[in-house]
Amino acid sequence: MSTENAATFDCPECDVSAPSTSVPYDSLGYVVCPVCGYAATPAPERSSSAERSPSAGD
Ligand SMILES: [Zn+2]
Repeated sequence: MSTENAATFDCPECDVSAPSTSVPYDSLGYVVCPVCGYAATPAPERSSSAERSPSAGD
């Protein structure tokens, strides 16, 4: 029995679920998680943490 009546935003970061109509959107029109602030952008611009040397520091 599927009773999904509306689009729901599921945050991959904090795993929260909320109706798409009740979540905020950024200036680009992408949904933003109201809990952790995760933006559901298809292609994130920043790649600072994408490539890190495991022995860069520490
Ligand atoms: Zn979230």
